[in-house]
Amino acid sequence: MTSGKLFVFTGPSGTGKGTILGKVLQAEPRLRLSVSATTRSPRAGEQDGVHYWFMDQSTFEEKIEQNAFLEYACYVGNYYGTPEQPVNDQLAAGYDVVLEIEVQGAMQIHQKRPDAVMVFVAPPSIAELENRLQGRGTEDAAKVAARLAQAQKELTYQNQFDYVIVNDVLDEAVADLRSILRAEHCRVSHTTTP
Ligand code: ADP
Ligand code: 5GP
Repeated sequence: MTSGKLFVFTGPSGTGKGTILGKVLQAEPRLRLSVSATTRSPRAGEQDGVHYWFMDQSTFEEKIEQNAFLEYACYVGNYYGTPEQPVNDQLAAGYDVVLEIEVQGAMQIHQKRPDAVMVFVAPPSIAELENRLQGRGTEDAAKVAARLAQAQKELTYQNQFDYVIVNDVLDEAVADLRSILRAEHCRVSHTTTP
């Protein structure tokens, strides 16, 4: 069986990454979402092992020491990281794997796995990003402000990605991501001799 492809899906908090991926994952049985580890507290409705692996800081730091993460970063005061083994296992089993991660982690993947397909999701505007973050209601005003400040930095990395999707009309953004998955499976590899 041929290995699957690795996709990195990055963009400011509140842009709609999770919403887009939820729809694409339903439509694409060959695609698997990597479950990240984090030290942030679960939001209402979030389940351990489904949305994240929730852990305390010392457990996370032990896993850093053990080299258990493909990448990790500190984002607005908490650690977030991608456990490496499940990603490798799913790829070897022939599934495509998508990492929904922030920009520092995305850049680490770009270095370590140059074949990874890098996709950035941008909001239509900063004002709309603020509306979405406030509308989601999962962070207080101070945390929304910290995430918006981080968003301004993250947006400057767009041109280092293979694709940029502007999430204005949700269905169009979903179609864009599905088109990217499809196109990447038609891509000719120039690194192997025929
Ligand atoms: P992220 O995963 O990037 O942090 P979410 O998927 O949680 O973002 O989306 C943030 C908020 O914006 C949610 O309340 C979601 O319903 C809303 N949202 C997502 N995409 C759109 C869109 N295209 N138009 C309007 N609202 C959207
Ligand atoms: P949230 O707290 O909103 O779930 O996530 C905050 C940010 O962390 C988002 O941009 C999300 O994509 C990112 N993130 C989630 N998991 C990981 C991960 O494993 N590694 C990195 N680097 N970022 C992650």
